[in-house]
Amino acid sequence: MRMLETVLIYYDARMLGHDPSGWDTDHPEWSDAVKAMIAHQYPEASLETYSFPERPARLITIVERLLAEPIDGQCWRVPTLATHAQLQRAHSAAHLAYIESLVGGSRWLAQDTTAVSPESVFAAKLAAGAGISAIEAIAAGEGRHAFCVVRPPGHHASADHAKGFCLYNNIAVAAMHARAVLGYRRVMIWDWDMHHGNGTQDIFYDQPDVLVVDSHCEAPFYPGSGTLAETGAGAGLGSHLNVPFPRGSGNAALLDVFEQVVRPAARAFRPDLILISAGFDCHYLDQTCVMDETGFAALTQHMCALAQELCDGRLVMMLEGGYNAQALSDSAHATIHALAGNTISGVNVLPEDPGRAAVAEVARFHADTIAALGQLSVASSSASGPQSG
Ligand SMILES: [Zn+2]
Repeated sequence: MRMLETVLIYYDARMLGHDPSGWDTDHPEWSDAVKAMIAHQYPEASLETYSFPERPARLITIVERLLAEPIDGQCWRVPTLATHAQLQRAHSAAHLAYIESLVGGSRWLAQDTTAVSPESVFAAKLAAGAGISAIEAIAAGEGRHAFCVVRPPGHHASADHAKGFCLYNNIAVAAMHARAVLGYRRVMIWDWDMHHGNGTQDIFYDQPDVLVVDSHCEAPFYPGSGTLAETGAGAGLGSHLNVPFPRGSGNAALLDVFEQVVRPAARAFRPDLILISAGFDCHYLDQTCVMDETGFAALTQHMCALAQELCDGRLVMMLEGGYNAQALSDSAHATIHALAGNTISGVNVLPEDPGRAAVAEVARFHADTIAALGQLSVASSSASGPQSG
C-alpha cells in the first residue's frame, strides 16, 4: 500500500482566453506552408475543419475529466502571474518588450503557427507563473508533487524568440526561480514532449546547474534540433542530454529512456528539484509515436520514486504539447493519478518497439557524459558554497 500524496494542480480558466483562430490573412504564404505541412504529416486531416491546434479545448478536456473523476489528493490551486523580473531570468529584455507589444492584438508570429489573440499574453504570464507558484508551495511544505495545467506551452520559446506555440519558456522561468530565490541549487528537467525543447536547450545550454534530458522524435521532425552531439557548451558542457528516437516509438522506448538515461543521469547529478516538461503528444492518438496513458503513468511512478530518492520527493510537471483531446484527458488523468501515489496496474508494450534500439544506442553514446555529471555537480557545489535549501 503506497502513501497517498497531495497533488497541487495549478489551473486558471483565464488561460482559455488565449484563442488564436483561423489562417493568417496578412501572410498567406505562411498559411500555405502550414497547409502543405499538415497534408504531408497528417494526410488524414481535413484542411476544411482545421483550427489552431493549441486550442482552449486542450485544457478544458483535462479539467473536466479531473472534475468528473476526481483523484484522491488532487488540490486545485490558482497560479499567480509571472512578473517581468521573473520572466527576465529566462528571456532577453527585447523579447519581453516584443511580447508585451502583442497585448490586445491578433496575429501570427511565425509560419510555424505561433499566434496570439488579444488575451494571449495574459494567459502566457499565468502559464509562466504556474511553475513558480508550484515550486513556492512545495518549498513551503504544502505538498511535494504538482501538475501545472497550462497553455500556451513553453519549451520552444528561447531567450529571444517565440516559437512553436510558445511565448515564454514556462519551465525555464520556473527553474530559474527555484535557483535564484528558493535555494534549489541544482535543477533537473526531463522534457518528454514528443518535440525537441529547443527553447529550454537554448536557455540552459551553457549552465552547469540545470541538467536537461530531452527525449523526442528525431530531426528532421519539428523543430529539427536536438541531435546527440548537442550536449551543452562552456561550463554547461555535458549538462544537456538529447535522446532522439524514431517515429513509432512507444511506452517501452520511453521506459528505456528513464532507465538508461534519466535515472543514471539524475543519480550522478543529484538534483535538489525535478521538473518535467510533460507533453502528451507521444500518445498514439497524436499519430506520430505510439505511447498511451499507461506509459505516462509508469514514467510518472518512476519519477516519483526518483524524486523521493534524490530530492525529498520534489517534483513539478508542466503541460507542454498534446493535441488530441482524448489523449490529453486520458494521459493527464493517468499521470496525476500516479503523482498521487496510486500504484499503476500495468503498462502496454508493443512486441517490437522501434525506439528501443535507438534509445540503447543513445545511452551508449551518453555513458561517459553521464558518468562525468557527478564531477560537474561536485564542482558546481563547491563553486557556489554550502547547500542551504
Ligand atoms: Zn510537442
